[in-house]
Amino acid sequence: MDSRTHSPVRKIVIVGGGTAGWMTAAALSKVLQNRFVIQLVESDEIGTVGVGEATIPMIRLYNQILELDEDEFIRETQATFKLGIEFVNWGHLGERYIHGFGVIGQQLWTTDFYQYWLKMWLAGKVPDLEHFSINRMACRANKCMRAATDMPKSPLSEIVHAFHFDAGLFAKYLRKYSEKRGVIRTEGRIVNVPLRGDGQVEAVVLETGERVEGDLFIDCSGFRGLLIEQALHTGYEDWSQWLPVNRAVAVPCDHGGEFTPYTRATAHASGWQWRIPLQHRIGNGHVYCSDFISDDEAAATLLSHLDGQPRAEPRLLKFVTGKRRKVWNQNVVSMGLASGFLEPLESTSIHLIQTTIDKLITFFPDQGFAQNDIDEFNAQMDAEFVSIRDFIILHYKLTQRDDSAFWRRCRDMEVPESLTRRMALYKQHGRIFREGAELFTPVSWLQVMHGQGLKPESYHPLVDVYPEKDIQEFLDGIATVIRKCVEVMPTHADYIAQHCAAQKM
Ligand SMILES: Cc1cc2nc3c(=O)[nH]c(=O)nc-3n(C[C@H](O)[C@H](O)[C@H](O)COP(=O)(O)OP(=O)(O)OC[C@H]3O[C@@H](n4cnc5c(N)ncnc54)[C@H](O)[C@@H]3O)c2cc1C
Repeated sequence: MDSRTHSPVRKIVIVGGGTAGWMTAAALSKVLQNRFVIQLVESDEIGTVGVGEATIPMIRLYNQILELDEDEFIRETQATFKLGIEFVNWGHLGERYIHGFGVIGQQLWTTDFYQYWLKMWLAGKVPDLEHFSINRMACRANKCMRAATDMPKSPLSEIVHAFHFDAGLFAKYLRKYSEKRGVIRTEGRIVNVPLRGDGQVEAVVLETGERVEGDLFIDCSGFRGLLIEQALHTGYEDWSQWLPVNRAVAVPCDHGGEFTPYTRATAHASGWQWRIPLQHRIGNGHVYCSDFISDDEAAATLLSHLDGQPRAEPRLLKFVTGKRRKVWNQNVVSMGLASGFLEPLESTSIHLIQTTIDKLITFFPDQGFAQNDIDEFNAQMDAEFVSIRDFIILHYKLTQRDDSAFWRRCRDMEVPESLTRRMALYKQHGRIFREGAELFTPVSWLQVMHGQGLKPESYHPLVDVYPEKDIQEFLDGIATVIRKCVEVMPTHADYIAQHCAAQKM
């Protein structure tokens, strides 16, 4: 039964002006045009988390919907290109692999490319997987360019990029965009969230006494979940038994070392460290589990692994991995950190903001709140979170490190049944499936499972239908073409200098 409550939505109130708040404001002001009043409340005094600088390729879809000029966006946010993530010391100490965006190899005959590669690789007749990925080989050479769409037959047309950007500048850029499209910004600290008799949020009340009323509230207030949790007591699913990291210290530093077109995630004894190169600085952070290392030790580890001089004092952030029991509850949709946090290993939080915006638009409650819509929205968001959660757990579970209590705990932990099943399927015959509309494709699962040493016992039997000589020629041909393509690509630094260099800061 479709039960509707409340009258049609006329006014949308966004609480919070971090990445989530301004991404929502910009997208809704663009897509909904001027059909609704949109007001955003934020507090400069409280500020934002100020991290969250690596993205995945779907961000380009968001930018396209907003009709942003990509070069302008890069200049305004001091952005660089990202072709993948390098994982250092995850399988064993001293090992490294890249999870690259885009395809690997080429479709051949009847089964997946990687099955042919797997047969030959198990026999020691072809090089590692990365030689069949233009993104990964470009990362290795610090080369970068956008896809050459005018060369459809070349691997250069298959390059897939995302960005690293300065989160503060991104929010500023989107604020300008949103205000131009009529979004009203109100500065002030919210001190009270009164509810109506039916349990819906009626208004937010600022320290000054100002009341901001609305029909639909979007909670982008960060970890505190001002509306979704503090006012509506929605509840939180704690996933720390699988994702045990619960703190991060973050610090920007000067440039030094390589100007990489990829994020680096280096595993330390009790967590891992990110390195995100921007045009004006490098973003760094050490994500760790406080059961295994003190905050001071974590900060010291971070500072001893920087490429350049730190530009600030390290900043401590605390979190619990997991998600809100309902992302949408009553007339409140939570977005960003207010809806949950899975830790930043695969740069999925900004993507989850984008997904939540997309689903909110799909189920937009213009005629009032229909419980069927809300339930479906919540079910779809649950599926998104769970599939990303499993993919991130995979990185921890597949470690073979024995040198610290943290990594032994990760290696020995029980993982969700959904993940156990996937690992077993791969281990037996190298089989990988995409479940529903999940974010990470089989190519992503393959790169991480292979990169961290999970070795299939065999490959798909259909591969044996083809003569080994033909497979060898096919694979050698792809690796050669990719190598030649990478040779002619510009370096990451040159490509930015030619197309989208930002002002020096
Ligand atoms: C350590 C770490 C690393 C991360 N790295 C990545 C990454 O590489 N890639 C990625 O995609 N994501 C990453 N994320 C996630 C990313 O930072 C967030 O998804 C993103 O910044 C969104 O934050 P937010 O807008 O939800 O919250 P916040 O930035 O915390 O913003 C909250 C807003 O609410 C306002 N507010 C709060 N309380 C009140 C009040 N009482 N009155 C008025 N206003 C109020 C604040 O002023 C602020 O404007 C990372 C997160 C962490 C913690």
